[in-house]
Amino acid sequence: MSATHLDYEVLVSEAIPLALPGRLPDGGARTWAPVSTTLIFGHGEVILVDPPLTAAQAEAVADRVRAGGRRLTYIFVTHAHGDHWFTAASLADRFPGAQVVATSGTIAQMHRAAQARAGFWDKILPGLIPASPVTAVAAEDLGSGLALEGHALSVVGVGHSDTDDTSVLHIPDLDLVVAGDVVYNGVHQYLVESRDGGRDAWRRAVAMVEALGARRIIAGHKNHQYDDDADRQIRETRRYLADADELLETEPTPEDFYGAMVQRHPGHLNRSSLWGSSQALYADRT
Ligand SMILES: [Zn+2]
Repeated sequence: MSATHLDYEVLVSEAIPLALPGRLPDGGARTWAPVSTTLIFGHGEVILVDPPLTAAQAEAVADRVRAGGRRLTYIFVTHAHGDHWFTAASLADRFPGAQVVATSGTIAQMHRAAQARAGFWDKILPGLIPASPVTAVAAEDLGSGLALEGHALSVVGVGHSDTDDTSVLHIPDLDLVVAGDVVYNGVHQYLVESRDGGRDAWRRAVAMVEALGARRIIAGHKNHQYDDDADRQIRETRRYLADADELLETEPTPEDFYGAMVQRHPGHLNRSSLWGSSQALYADRT
């Protein structure tokens, strides 16, 4: 007997303003990037990948899940950055039986992220993020693995990408990888954690995604106007990392680096992230 037909939908929670003083070097406002939440669904069940960041974003996602009329079984979290899981518990509470799942490596990082929340997230987005207890169970402990109506979904740990202990979800029957922040799509990449070999580790993670051979990739941060073509996104993600490597050698200041990266990626969204990266990458230079 054949399994039911699968499909997917990407919900992009658009960029939101941050409560940070000052502007970007080119005068732009400080924002948080658009974040992608993916719904993978069959006939009667749905799996949600990467819950969004704020209560309002989670409400919109919950409405969409309810409107589909399917039973939410799992909420899978690809990595521990708060913008991809802080609303996981509050979403799971609304859908009885829904289980939050991540790799054990990501879960360990989630505990760290929860501790860092007050000093960072609640300052830039005061009052907007719901309670975020870590309720995830380890994907490795799910006896039968993540499955959806007879289709196997495989969780692939890829190590460091834009943070430590990241993973992607491969759905062979959809020719799809939900890639979290391993692959970006038209949005400035977060390079704050990419020093000390981090960009080389990130390139290895991209190669692991490429080796899965899927035709489509959902990036954790995407311009909603862009398609999900895997080859293009892999190429552009690599190019961004290579440009950073090159410009870190040639540009003397964070402002110069920022300007040169903008010149090479003028259409990318969320320059706030690039400015954060620029400051972090030049922090210990004198
Ligand atoms: Zn992210």
